[in-house]
Amino acid sequence: MENMKDMTIGIPRGMSFYNNYPFYYGFFTDLGIKIILSDPTTKETMTKGSSLVVTETCLPIKVYIGHVLNLLEKGVDKIFVPSIQSIAPKIYNCSKIRGLPDLVRNVVKKDFTMIEATLDKSEKNQGLYEFLAEAVKPFGITDMDKIKKASKAGWRTYNNFFIMSKSGMSYKKAMNYALQGKVFIENQTKEHPISVALISHGYNILDDRTSMKVIEKLEEMDVKVYTSLQLSTEQMDDGISTLGQNMYWANEREMTGAAGHYMKDAKIDGIITLTAFGCGPDSLMCERIMRKAKSFNKPLLHLTIDEQTGEAGFVTRLEAFVDMLFRKKRANLINKMEITGETSYIPNTNYIETVK
Ligand code: SF4
Repeated sequence: MENMKDMTIGIPRGMSFYNNYPFYYGFFTDLGIKIILSDPTTKETMTKGSSLVVTETCLPIKVYIGHVLNLLEKGVDKIFVPSIQSIAPKIYNCSKIRGLPDLVRNVVKKDFTMIEATLDKSEKNQGLYEFLAEAVKPFGITDMDKIKKASKAGWRTYNNFFIMSKSGMSYKKAMNYALQGKVFIENQTKEHPISVALISHGYNILDDRTSMKVIEKLEEMDVKVYTSLQLSTEQMDDGISTLGQNMYWANEREMTGAAGHYMKDAKIDGIITLTAFGCGPDSLMCERIMRKAKSFNKPLLHLTIDEQTGEAGFVTRLEAFVDMLFRKKRANLINKMEITGETSYIPNTNYIETVK
């Protein structure tokens, strides 16, 4: 085993970090490996990452490259860049996610150890334990019993995070508690007049800089936001069937699955899809989601982001959509009042004018 001072791994705050970090934290920490994260995304992260790749590359990949550079600036010399090829037989990720280590190697011309573990469930002997063994081999850890035990610690942290996220706790809070080994279930007391399903990947909506804090912005408009983080794998698989699809892409659950689930959920007033400009898989998935939204009578707003996206225009589109949802809901409630004979309606919001 390596000297303790060398037992440090750098994890870029990008791509699978947003969904998998609780697992990685539990796993590496159990083996005595200290994690150094790159700093949260800034304009500089995006600029530096973008400068190394061709313009057409999607924003999340540009941001990821920027985070690798940030770790190198911090003096980290072992950086974890997983290659997540497929998560089930014949269910693949997009070529950029699959080839992430090659892409980083080709554009970041610096001297460092890239820990490029591969997960490929379409191949024999390339499952989770092999992936984890590859991830810790550079630290001289080869004992499979220890690796399996650490994997359990990873799942424990992940499951704690998932329980809290599913209960509706915010991403950051759930992450903080899970990393401390704690589980809290909050009573959700605030009532929201409008509920929206935000359909996207973790790396598009949980990075404060690139997402322009879309979740917080919607909450400030009195909107309750639902994402794939509140759903189980089974619910998302059922959602894929609801839209009459089969799973093709590895990250299809977050998109088609979550959309299918929320389309048939009566409390959801509207759907927002948010994708990175130039993302091939998402444009295919969103096309199908858009077509189905009509048959479920759910208003849908499609947003794309890239490094040029201006916050003012982004917020204007969100406000216009939310305003339309409020008005639609209010009109439905007033219709209902006329039928039932009720005489008053007090919307629980300051966002639009109160009905007199
Ligand atoms: S799925 Fe889309 S956004 Fe994600 S890495 Fe691939 S091309 Fe980029």
